Amino acid sequence: MSVFDDLKDIRERALEQIARSADLKTLDAVRVAVAGKKGELTSVLHQMGSVPAPDRPRVGKLANEVRASIEEALDARRAALERSELERRMAAQAVDVTLPGRTRPLGHEALVNSIIEEAQDFFCGIGYTVVDGPRVETEYYNFTALNTPADHPSRSARDTFYVVDESAGADGLPTSGVIGESNVLLRTQTSGVQVHTMETSEPPIYMICPGTVFRPDAADPNHLPQFHQIEGLVVDRGITFGDLKGTLDAFTRAMFGADRKTRYRPHFFPFTEPSCEVDVSCGVCGGTGCRFCKHTGWLEILGCGMVDPNVLRMSGIDPEVYSGFAFGIGVERVACLRYDLPDLRALVQGDMRFIRQF
Ligand SMILES: [Zn+2]
Repeated sequence: MSVFDDLKDIRERALEQIARSADLKTLDAVRVAVAGKKGELTSVLHQMGSVPAPDRPRVGKLANEVRASIEEALDARRAALERSELERRMAAQAVDVTLPGRTRPLGHEALVNSIIEEAQDFFCGIGYTVVDGPRVETEYYNFTALNTPADHPSRSARDTFYVVDESAGADGLPTSGVIGESNVLLRTQTSGVQVHTMETSEPPIYMICPGTVFRPDAADPNHLPQFHQIEGLVVDRGITFGDLKGTLDAFTRAMFGADRKTRYRPHFFPFTEPSCEVDVSCGVCGGTGCRFCKHTGWLEILGCGMVDPNVLRMSGIDPEVYSGFAFGIGVERVACLRYDLPDLRALVQGDMRFIRQF
């Protein structure tokens, strides 16, 4: 075989291998095998010395042509492979704007919060302020300033969570029923906020204080150790029981419906005199009596009364000049009465199937 044929054969195979190279690494291997220092083409060119002198110009020309066409093919193939490599990378890293976004599941407002907001809307609408207060209170603000007798059972450690009890025995356990004004506890009612408000502001006072309260009850269908109250306080000149009744009648109708009737039953609370409990006519039977209202036609919804003059005096307000009324409603109780809930614990379990119904 002549050098001519060798050269043509090399060119043919090289061009075919270059065209077949699917990536840059393979292409480089072809380049080394053909045109590298120890490549096929290089070794043929090294044999030029053995070519007879008359043939040398033609062989030289062909060799140059072969080398040029192989290098051209290598360059073109490299450029094509680099371009497709770039396109592949761009496609892989591209953001597909047509993909749907990641959605986070939306929560739902807790039923208790929505009832509190509804009550706030009502009272703000008639000129009340919403006041917040500490959840951790002293025994003075939770009981004493509200006219609670020293031996009242609600002060005992069985009915109140004590944080610090200065009257604790040597074993560190609280001794119940002993007055210690600076004992620290988790408030059992939001009424302490009323005392703070009376101490720090001058009448006229028109306020509500919604908030969390705590009592050492095990959670069961009718009790929660942590629940919510909305208490209200009005102190102004010439406030009468008529003002109390007008306000709470309007509130009851706003919360339960315009067709509902109310009933005021005498009751006892330490910080109000006179005191009463308010019932609303049963919405299930319309007042004729059914199982929901225990056949009475009425549902108990809140406690209220005229602020005891002692309470006003303790907070530095002159009961000869001012009078007022106070009321407290359990938010969980409103939820139960409105929606006939069989178990209070559903309100705090966070089950979306329950909450989404409201
Ligand atoms: Zn009924």
